[in-house]
Amino acid sequence: MAEPVSGPRAQSESKALMRRARRRIPGGVNSPVRAYGAVGGAPPFIARGRGPRIFDVDGNGYLDYVGSWGPLILGHAPPAVVRAVKRAATLGASFGAPTPGEVEIAEAICRALPAVEQLRFVSSGTEAAMSALRLARAATGRRKILKFEGGYHGHADALLLGAGSGVATLGIPGSPGVPEEFTKLTAQVPYNDLSAVAGAFRNHGEDLACVIVEPVAGNMGCVPPRPGFLEGLREICDRHGALLIFDEVMTGFRVAWGGAQRRYKVSPDLTCLGKVVGGGLPAAAYGGSRALMQQVAPAGPVYQAGTLSGNPLAVAAGLETLRQLERPGVYERLEARSTALAAGLRARAEARGIEFCSAAVGGMFGFAFHPGPLRNLEDARAAHTGRFKRFFRAMLEAGIYLPPSPYESAFMSLAHRRADIAETLRAAESAFDKAARVR
Ligand SMILES: *Cc1c(COP(=O)(O)O)cnc(C)c1O
Repeated sequence: MAEPVSGPRAQSESKALMRRARRRIPGGVNSPVRAYGAVGGAPPFIARGRGPRIFDVDGNGYLDYVGSWGPLILGHAPPAVVRAVKRAATLGASFGAPTPGEVEIAEAICRALPAVEQLRFVSSGTEAAMSALRLARAATGRRKILKFEGGYHGHADALLLGAGSGVATLGIPGSPGVPEEFTKLTAQVPYNDLSAVAGAFRNHGEDLACVIVEPVAGNMGCVPPRPGFLEGLREICDRHGALLIFDEVMTGFRVAWGGAQRRYKVSPDLTCLGKVVGGGLPAAAYGGSRALMQQVAPAGPVYQAGTLSGNPLAVAAGLETLRQLERPGVYERLEARSTALAAGLRARAEARGIEFCSAAVGGMFGFAFHPGPLRNLEDARAAHTGRFKRFFRAMLEAGIYLPPSPYESAFMSLAHRRADIAETLRAAESAFDKAARVR
C-alpha cells in the first residue's frame, strides 16, 4: 500500500531540526552513524513509519532498508506488536520486580536456541556483550579476549578496538578515553581467517578467556562466514579451554529462527541477543548453558544488574515479534526477498561494467563497490567509497532509504513485498548510472 510522496524532496523541516539538534546533542544525533558523515547531506528527521516505509517531517516517503538497524523484522508499527505494547503500557511501564512476560520470553528463546538453557535480559546489545565477556573471564579465570577486525559488539571499552559499524565509518582505531591497559587485553585478527586465530592462541596461549564473533559479520557490510570458519572456531576454543561467544545481536532471529547458530549448526558457549528480540523497544539478552549462567548474580558471584532490564513493554514487543516469526515459511520468504534484491542490484551493476558485489543471509543483506566477495575488513576498506556515496544519495532522492555507510548491513522486513523490491531495482538503474560516472 504505497502512500503518496509530496512533490520534490523537501528538506526544510529536517534541516531546521538539525540546526536545533546540533546545539543540544553532540553532532545532532544520539548515535554517530545517523549524522550521515560518510555520505554527506542532511539526514531526514523521521516522523512515522508503516510497513516497509518511513515518512520524514517534510512529507517525503521512503522504502526503508535500515529497519532501525535490524530490530524491525516485521516492518514499522506492525498491528499485533502495537497492540501488545499498548496493553502492557496500560498495566504499567515498569516495576523493578519480576513480571510474567519475562518468563514467557525466556522460555520462547530457550526453545529456539538449544545452546541457551538460561538467559539474562538487559537493555542493549552493548550491555549483553559486555556482560558475556565478564562471565567468560570469570568462568575461565583468564583475562584476554579475541575479537575480529571489523566486528562490532557495542561500545564497551575492551570491544572498541578495531570495531566495525560507526567506529569503522569514522575511521578511528578505537576511542580516546579507553586506556591502553584495557585494549592490551583484547587481541584481534582478520575475520574468516582460522590460521590467524590459531596464531593468536599460540601467542596468547592460556590467557584467552574467549573468542567473540559475529557469526555473520554485519558491521563491515554483510560478510558471511566461509564454510568451516565457525566450526573451526568451535574446535580451536575447545582445544584451548576458551569459551566461544556468538554475538547474535544482529543475526539472532534475523538470519533464521534461532539465529546463525541454528542455521550453521555450530553451538556457542554464550550467545548475545538484541535487536529483533526487543521488537523495536530496548531489550537484549545473553545466555548459555545452565552451568555458566548459574555463575551470574544472584545465583552466583558474577555481578550484573539493570533498573529497566526485562522491561514489560520491551518484553511484550519482543514476545509478540517472536510469535509472528515462529510461523512456517517466514524465513524462506524473507531470504527470497533479500536474495532477489541483492542479485538484482548485482545484475544491474554488472550490466554497466561496475565492480560490485552483494550478499544476503536471511533478512540481512549488503553490497559494496568492490569485485567481491568480501571476506574481511580489509576487503571492505578497499571498496569504492565515492561510488557508494553517489549511489546512496541517488537512491535516497528516489525514495529508497539505505544504510548511510558502506560498513553497515541493510535489512529486509516481512512487510517488504515483491513490488517494493521491483521499485527499488528501478531506482537503482539510474543510481548506478550516476555512480558509474564517479572515478
Ligand atoms: C548492534 C550490535 C550491537 C550493539 O547493540 P546496541 O543495542 O546498539 O548496544 C552489538 N553487537 C552486534 C553484532 C550488533 O550488531
